[in-house]
Amino acid sequence: MNGQNGQSLDDDLDRIHGKYLTVNSTEQIRRRSFSRYTPNVHESRILVLYTGGTIGMVETESKKSPENKSGQIPAEPGAFEKEIRQYRDLHDEKYANEHFRKDSPYLVLPESPEKNRVVYLIKEFEPLLDSSNMGVDDWEKIAKNIEENYQNYDGFVILHGTDTLAYTSSALSFMLENLGKTVVVTGAQISIFGSRSDGRANFMASLIIAGNFHIPEVTVLFQDKLFRGNCTCKISSNKFHAFESPRCAPLADIGIAIDVFWGRVFRPFGIKKFKCRINLSKNVGLLRIHPNIDVNVVRASLQPPIQGVIIETYGAGNIPTNRKDLIKELKAAVEAGVLIVNISQCPDGNVETIYETGQVLSDIGVILGSDMTSEAAYTKLCYVLSKDEWDHETKKEMMAKNIRGEMTQKKKTDDLDMVVTVAQRLGRTSKKEVEELKLWLEPFLLSTAILTNDVNSLVKLREANCNLSAPNLDGRTPLHLACTLGNVEIVRYLLEYGANVHIKDNFNRTALMDAIQHGHNEVIKLLVECGAHVNTNADMLSESLSFAAANGYLDVIKSFEIAGADLDTPDSTGRTPLYLACLNSHTETVQYLLKCGCRLDKTDKLGVSPRDVVEKMELFEIKKIIQSILINKN
Ligand code: ASP
Repeated sequence: MNGQNGQSLDDDLDRIHGKYLTVNSTEQIRRRSFSRYTPNVHESRILVLYTGGTIGMVETESKKSPENKSGQIPAEPGAFEKEIRQYRDLHDEKYANEHFRKDSPYLVLPESPEKNRVVYLIKEFEPLLDSSNMGVDDWEKIAKNIEENYQNYDGFVILHGTDTLAYTSSALSFMLENLGKTVVVTGAQISIFGSRSDGRANFMASLIIAGNFHIPEVTVLFQDKLFRGNCTCKISSNKFHAFESPRCAPLADIGIAIDVFWGRVFRPFGIKKFKCRINLSKNVGLLRIHPNIDVNVVRASLQPPIQGVIIETYGAGNIPTNRKDLIKELKAAVEAGVLIVNISQCPDGNVETIYETGQVLSDIGVILGSDMTSEAAYTKLCYVLSKDEWDHETKKEMMAKNIRGEMTQKKKTDDLDMVVTVAQRLGRTSKKEVEELKLWLEPFLLSTAILTNDVNSLVKLREANCNLSAPNLDGRTPLHLACTLGNVEIVRYLLEYGANVHIKDNFNRTALMDAIQHGHNEVIKLLVECGAHVNTNADMLSESLSFAAANGYLDVIKSFEIAGADLDTPDSTGRTPLYLACLNSHTETVQYLLKCGCRLDKTDKLGVSPRDVVEKMELFEIKKIIQSILINKN
């Protein structure tokens, strides 16, 4: 992705990375291509989308009292980032001066106990909005920004007003299909420009989470909790504790340490790439049943162009059965093809057909919305109705089915949890002891199954609630190991059950880099099918690719090509692989790179192109290759 000044992200960061070691069967060659690169910093890159809200507002003259926000307006363009740069807890100027170019637009968090330095870019929306003014078009703008930048960042933070934050996070959870990276939505009750702002702490914790933990969900961070976005609702307009998730326990607690509850994290299953769904339906309504409700209100709410309505009913999903007029209207709408979904008005409510007053709705074809929040049910219906590829029956099924964790599932009993069972046998029963044991035991057992190619054990471990993305002490996950060993069946199994392809180990490597290094091209294809890419390993990519080209290691280049790498990626001097292959007269490599469309006119920092190299060095054989490729093209 291009930075704000047109350079690539790495030009912007412009750091001195990596060390060249002295150079000398295939495996050794591959190892050498990669081992020269030793990252001296662990960084993750986060894109911050600043959409508006109290977090960046300033007071106008008319502001009367601390409770009255009526005098608040968004600060002038660019003021938010300027302010953030002043805070030492949000920007480490010294590190930035040492590692980035002078006019770099990037900010960086100070060191924290977590593994990565979080480097971030703030993209400010125009205009900045009070979230009460936001709707489908704004959700789509956010989603598209994430899609466009997906491969270049490790995670995303969205700064948003609190009023409709639960709607936006719910909508995004559906729109971002097969999400593999962390998205955190946050805001504030007091602006960062004000004293006692909660915005700084919320922002900082969001960046740390997005930059260090692979939680492939749209989440909401507020105060000291991380929630699943589509289970969250705003519960207070003036307390710092402004959000709750009544039916789904937090995904993480933010205290002195950050405790992520991995067992609660929802993971997309299946080998599918990330994709963003837009064009949500706007023909969806939300109708709250109340005593004495006028049938005309109900009828009006169900008229075309309305395609779907969420009805908020009493308790466990009940409506007055003595109101035949209401039931008649609802039945007529269902028959006319309107999707009607029944959810409870209780914040902690689940719709069930236990009473006659609830059964009657199911009998006329109203869909049971389980324990979805209003925000989740509403945005899910907007999303489901946009799916032209689904027929009416499928849409109904999807509304009743959990697709992003928006309906809480029955908790698996503890005796199914393998680590808990072992812990009990060892007499270690406290929560902390079980968690500690989990940390060691899961990676060990999973690695053993993978090393011995034992798919059956892997299946059993998964069924016993093992986290298939559990890292070992080196930060390496079961997928890293499987990709190093190259067993396609095991890799497929891990991916199908939600193993995350974006996790980097303590050496900054994704599983895809392992597969490339070891030349497991079938595994590479599978990873790419599941959305893996080389872009967030940009430094490693450019160094390894250049080295391979300079030495004529064509197999390595081929593996990078299968991985979707840009084979024209320059090294730190601006020389492309084609330039280096020409310079070192590796004709076969030159031929391959040219066939892949690499450019002969891409100049290095001194203005020299691969074509200039061929001319100056009088490389006749390569000249012939170029000519024959050009003739074939024409
Ligand atoms: N009205 C503001 C908004 O939602 C409230 C806030 O951000 O807290 O944009």
